[in-house]
Amino acid sequence: MPEVLTAPRVITGDGTVTGDGTVTGGGTVTGGAVVIGDRTVDWAGPAEALPAEYAALPRTDYPGSTIMPGLIDSHVHLGFDGGPNPAARMRGETDEQQLVLMLRSARELLGVGVTTARDLGARAYLDVVVRDAIAGGLARGPRMVVAARPITVTGGHCWFMGGEADSEDDLRRMVRTHHKHGADLIKVMSTGGFMTTGSAPWYAQFTSAQLAVIVEEAGRVDKPVAAHAHGIEGIRRAVEAGVSTLEHCSFVTETNERRFDEALAARIAERKIFVCPTINVNAPYVAKLTGIAVGEHLMAMHEMGVRIITGTDAGIDNTPHHQYVGALEYLVSLGFQPGEVLAMATTEAAAALGVGAITGRLAPGYDADLIVVDGDPRTDIAVLGKLHRVIARGRDYRPDSGRFDVSAPGTPFAAPGHSVDLRLLTEATRRRQA
Ligand SMILES: [Zn+2]
Repeated sequence: MPEVLTAPRVITGDGTVTGDGTVTGGGTVTGGAVVIGDRTVDWAGPAEALPAEYAALPRTDYPGSTIMPGLIDSHVHLGFDGGPNPAARMRGETDEQQLVLMLRSARELLGVGVTTARDLGARAYLDVVVRDAIAGGLARGPRMVVAARPITVTGGHCWFMGGEADSEDDLRRMVRTHHKHGADLIKVMSTGGFMTTGSAPWYAQFTSAQLAVIVEEAGRVDKPVAAHAHGIEGIRRAVEAGVSTLEHCSFVTETNERRFDEALAARIAERKIFVCPTINVNAPYVAKLTGIAVGEHLMAMHEMGVRIITGTDAGIDNTPHHQYVGALEYLVSLGFQPGEVLAMATTEAAAALGVGAITGRLAPGYDADLIVVDGDPRTDIAVLGKLHRVIARGRDYRPDSGRFDVSAPGTPFAAPGHSVDLRLLTEATRRRQA
């Protein structure tokens, strides 16, 4: 039902993103109003300039608050439960059980103000089913952008999601099958990872030529490619293949140390590839375990003009879907300005996900994806946890039962019994075995 919302601050996201990725202009209206139509934003601007045609609409004032675009989590797994061993649960569940879990995860995300999320790895095209159910009003959740089964080598990272492919023919067939079943993008595991036995983050899983085949075949059906890449060699190959986003991008060496590669970062900037560093509430614990100051790499990339977006890998070990805001707080603690982090979580993420023309801003014609928060997130990012309203595609969402403690600190990894192999995080001497 059409409505006018007012607040002392309306962040429209209309700032211009410059070449080096910084947002100018602020895009904030003081004493603002937003007119929500059936599904879209009909108008946004200073309340005193509200056009007469909207004057008779129901109006809700939010003194002391900020109205802003809904948040975007650019990297989630609805099929992982965010508990101590999500990979074991996924492997032990039927597709039907997975579907129920995924619907719960989606509701949790929406309940904390995430109105768009990109699922980068699920089984059996269940993410396509969930995306369409939400879009069709059968279920509540964020707008989903989905990658289906991540393409990986036989026995490679997350092989249990069903995306094993090795030869050029296999790779083309996998991309075409994903297209046939309705995936929005292609995810490829360019390197191994931390949570698959027999896999390691520094292995480059595919050759440059194989990655290029995936990008070419995906391009033929107009789909971007997201590359999971921890190891430097796997990052380099993905960059040269022309992927659209790099996930993690953690500069792991063949001896499992971290070494920022300035030339490679410059190439990432030059090729205009977005980086989703998957910072989440567990990041402080990982930093402590590994002694790695992830912030320095991120800040260096940011200063070199690499466009960074927010994504949490929600669902992996001890990373519940409702702790999204804690990840943004951590980014601020690393030295980013709150305004920069807000842009990474809205306009920049929308651009990276290919939905920048429909969400991430409050402007006429954009989907009415917005949140109302108590306070000013440009000075205190934590107020994103104090939600008055969550509206997704024009529909209000009320969380099922109270509020999650979205600012609760993450739970440290507690070996044993976790998906994540702690040795892979902490041992810097293991030799490459491939
Ligand atoms: Zn992931």
